[in-house]
Amino acid sequence: MRTPIIAGNWKMNKTIPEAIELANSLKREFLDIQGVEVVICPPFTALSEVFEILNSSNIKLGAQNMSCQEEGAFTGEVSAKMLRDAGCQFVILGHSERRQYFFETDNLINNKIKAALKNNLTPIVCVGETLDERENEKTFDVIQTQISGVLKDIKAVDLEKIIFAYEPVWAIGTGKNATSAQAEEVHKFIRSFLKKCYNEETANAVRIQYGGSVKPENFSELISQEDIDGALVGGASLQMEAFVKIVKQCLAS
Ligand code: PEP
Repeated sequence: MRTPIIAGNWKMNKTIPEAIELANSLKREFLDIQGVEVVICPPFTALSEVFEILNSSNIKLGAQNMSCQEEGAFTGEVSAKMLRDAGCQFVILGHSERRQYFFETDNLINNKIKAALKNNLTPIVCVGETLDERENEKTFDVIQTQISGVLKDIKAVDLEKIIFAYEPVWAIGTGKNATSAQAEEVHKFIRSFLKKCYNEETANAVRIQYGGSVKPENFSELISQEDIDGALVGGASLQMEAFVKIVKQCLAS
């Protein structure tokens, strides 16, 4: 039985006072939440303040990115150890915006996953195809290449600690979500590929979130699918009511 997980990716939004306000509102709603894991990922600048608020709740803290390096002369970077220090338990890695605008490769993401695991951070690893790749029937090839690349030299005991987010690039921030059938087809493919590369038991334990224009209007159908174990939510996680509804739909499913 996989516990569903909803993570809010705030992206480059919210000043510290705005982040405090949203975190306080979510804490009021989800103080003792059980049956679904709720994670929020504010920008780096607000992590410590948000952690102070979440500390006495069941909501967990995540970051949106990190360096693959341990420490040293890497100006502008933030390490896994620093994220732990700020109270993070999770980190989003390989988001399509990082792949697209900051040229992150599967190899770099693989190194980041290893650094996160070494520092007891749970990586939320994003994979997904572009519209062009989908239209040219390359979706499964792309997903398989990304997963093989990001999991290079990762053992089964560590695979269990990783969360995947299937995020079709054409659905992120566009208002165009994958249908539940399209999403389930890819989630099933990911799980069966993990079974082939590792083993059935481990693959069945791995949680796979869907991400891409998730909102209260489309989420209940997505979460009712067998291999969809939650959501990575961007835009809708900035709106308290929408995020709360998404989490509640998860509880009701
Ligand atoms: C995301 O940021 O991972 C995301 C899926 O964004 P949105 O929900 O806005 O499409």
